[in-house]
Amino acid sequence: MSGTFLGTPAFPAAARAALEDSQLRRNLAHATSTIRTKRGNVVGEVDDWEQLRLAGEAIKNRVLRHLPDYLEQLERSLTAAGATVHWARDAAEANAVVVDIARRHGTDEVVKVKSMATQEIDLNSALEAAGIHAWETDLAELIVQLGDDLPSHILVPAIHRNRAEIREIFLREMGRAGRAAPADLTDEPARLAAAAREHLREKFLRAKVAVSGANFAVAETGTLTVVESEGNGRMCLTLPEVLVSVVGIEKVLPTFQDLDVMLQLLPRSSTGERMNPYTSTWTGVTPGDGPQEVHVVLLDNGRTDVLADPTGRQALRCIRCSACLNVCPVYERTGGHAYGSVYPGPIGAILTPQLRGVGTDPQTDSLPYASSLCGACFEVCPVRIDIPEVLVHLRAEVVDAHRKASRVPSVQDVAMKAASWTLSSAARTGAAERVAGIGGKLAGRLGRTAPGGRSILGAVPGPASAWSDSRDVPVPAAESFREWWTRTDGGRSRSDNTDGGRSRSDNTDGGRRNGDGA
Ligand code: SF4
Repeated sequence: MSGTFLGTPAFPAAARAALEDSQLRRNLAHATSTIRTKRGNVVGEVDDWEQLRLAGEAIKNRVLRHLPDYLEQLERSLTAAGATVHWARDAAEANAVVVDIARRHGTDEVVKVKSMATQEIDLNSALEAAGIHAWETDLAELIVQLGDDLPSHILVPAIHRNRAEIREIFLREMGRAGRAAPADLTDEPARLAAAAREHLREKFLRAKVAVSGANFAVAETGTLTVVESEGNGRMCLTLPEVLVSVVGIEKVLPTFQDLDVMLQLLPRSSTGERMNPYTSTWTGVTPGDGPQEVHVVLLDNGRTDVLADPTGRQALRCIRCSACLNVCPVYERTGGHAYGSVYPGPIGAILTPQLRGVGTDPQTDSLPYASSLCGACFEVCPVRIDIPEVLVHLRAEVVDAHRKASRVPSVQDVAMKAASWTLSSAARTGAAERVAGIGGKLAGRLGRTAPGGRSILGAVPGPASAWSDSRDVPVPAAESFREWWTRTDGGRSRSDNTDGGRSRSDNTDGGRRNGDGA
């Protein structure tokens, strides 16, 4: 599959660069906190929100358990409704289908509804290579496309841009792609939206072929659904003669009743609205109304591999609401580009490595580590994907993949084996604690005090620097817990007069005081 931005460095390097961009951090902090507040308000109105989440999880789990059956039912329903179904194993097959349809209609342009699936397969590049231009019509996608930029958020692809930057892009680029922006354009949202509307209108009216994704596909009726805010999607879905929808195979829902649950969960979780302004549904071809030729490309592109993993498959429940991005402390500071993939943030950190496979690409392998494992993503996920669980699972897979690929044990392997040997014997553990205590006394004099009063070491040299570069390394306790226990009879003896009876596990002074005073 594609879906990774070519040439992007691994997450730690990309994140470091992003953190230096203070404008980016301001834009992100403003945008994510606004959406977080809106989401919190509308979710708080729903008394049975947790039951809705459980229902969403149960529906998606049922889909995943019986995926082949529901997909075949969906194909039958779509065909009966006059649509043509195509199956695509990977990005190349899906792109070839769309290019072929556009060519058969003799067009050199298509209009597009915002779609993560088509970004994942890099459809625009495939169309461009065939001499067909793909016009993005979602406002944020238009900003990204005109700015020759990359999307950085699932829902708000241009979240990293502020109004002044958008105005500049419109003034500079719109004229090259069609109708120019008015020369007196300001950065007022209404003026920017009006300029985009004028620019896009001629494309909607001209295009013969439209390309979309789908948020959901109902198996019992063959109905596809697109949920959006601007109405640009509705224009694409209704005006052109031909409509091609690229749909990930996990988007299927068994019944219309299941769609009811999802349409309560999705808008509240994504835009923080009770209901989004435009929900378009269509079922094959309706004579005399809307596109008279409808194609649906059912896309695998690594999804069946994800399905085969009992822990990782929960990522396929994702309804792309982006709530996990908006609460993630890592995403809020680095932005989406640092993840180097079409799916950024917490969901990207578990979905991209699974779709691409781990063990071959350093950038992909870095993604499961792009998290503090705080768990905020799980708390907000409307379909209860336990993202931290999958992150830890994938970290183990990355380590295993590299262990298998290399005959030379890594520093981490050696360190873990040494720790295992030491900790499996009380005598060896005691000896190690005494050595650490001596080191702690010495290091305590050299360390520095971190906020909160803990004594920490600075950068550690050698291979251990990989650890200390991004974490505070505490000064080892001068006295181990077992030594303290023996000396004080478990805290009952008066000889424990150095720290008021606190054990050394409560190591607020890094062991210096006890070590010095003992
Ligand atoms: S993982 Fe959950 S919270 Fe994140 S985008 Fe998917 S559905 Fe939304």
